[in-house]
Amino acid sequence: MAKKIQALTTKRFGARYGRKTKLKVSLIEAERRKKQRCPFCLKEKVKRVAYGIWKCGACNSKFAGKAYTVEKRITAEEVE
Ligand SMILES: [Zn+2]
Repeated sequence: MAKKIQALTTKRFGARYGRKTKLKVSLIEAERRKKQRCPFCLKEKVKRVAYGIWKCGACNSKFAGKAYTVEKRITAEEVE
């Protein structure tokens, strides 16, 4: 039986776009939504405001980062 990886956030796409593409999108979206580590106070309180804009709930700093993560990149190997 095929292994179920996680609750996919891509059910809204229905049967379209293919399994692998949807898996990648869901991993990126999960990464985007979770709280990230602040580079200033090192607390995991950073939330995304908009594309590349992040705000820390602890020290109240707003700064630029990557579009979906503060610094870390999701590699293709992690998706496989
Ligand atoms: Zn902070």
